[in-house]
Amino acid sequence: MKIYTQALAVMLMLITGSAMAQQVNIGGDTMLTPIEHASLMIQAGEKTIYIDPVGDAARYAAFPRPELILITHIHGDHFNAETIAAVKTTDTVVIGPENVIAQLGYGQVIKNDESTTALGVRIEAIPAYNLSPERMKFHPRGRDNGYVLNLDGQRIYLSGDTEDIPEMRSLQDIDFAVICMNLPYTMTVEQAASAVLELKPKAVSPYHYRGPNGMSDLQEFQRLVGENPEIEVRLLDWYAQQPAAE
Ligand code: ZN
Ligand code: ZN
Repeated sequence: MKIYTQALAVMLMLITGSAMAQQVNIGGDTMLTPIEHASLMIQAGEKTIYIDPVGDAARYAAFPRPELILITHIHGDHFNAETIAAVKTTDTVVIGPENVIAQLGYGQVIKNDESTTALGVRIEAIPAYNLSPERMKFHPRGRDNGYVLNLDGQRIYLSGDTEDIPEMRSLQDIDFAVICMNLPYTMTVEQAASAVLELKPKAVSPYHYRGPNGMSDLQEFQRLVGENPEIEVRLLDWYAQQPAAE
């Protein structure tokens, strides 16, 4: 019986292990789990935060329900009202920009440069927008958010969909940065690397790096950021599952 129980425990560990295989420690006891493309989960202690959850709710079934959901903007690879409805509980706090909350019909609006506190986490809404004239139609200035989470003594920056805007470059004391890079929607690896060298996070993970013409060159990003060896580049697999756009 004892052997059977032990075997069962090992089996459960393996099952859980495979579901959580991508979970990485990003400092302190904070864990980041890439879900796909722009969707991720951050956990610290008892807190579970989903950022831009989209796709089939089954994808989230193995994870704890979120106390907090942050939405960066209205594009389908970041915002899906059905996914949110399926994964949230009655107590989940949902925070996003104005047009997202309007479409959702519930939740808390946070605009560029505003901050709020939920679950004891101070959340700063950082602007996210395109600078290149031919890309401005994707993410016009003032509409979308990136976020800085002040979580258990760490500052985590999630870029949302943006180019290398001055508001990103001038952020202070970022411990971990999650930075988008894809064309034609956001920015090149050169722009992203240049911004990261100025931002100087302790560590950075590229995300949102697939576009209609394939993946951004993450090795090139790593090489360019390597100019400052104090910035650790963490390459995670954001595309173990299926494609997304914008
Ligand atoms: Zn996007
Ligand atoms: Zn977008």
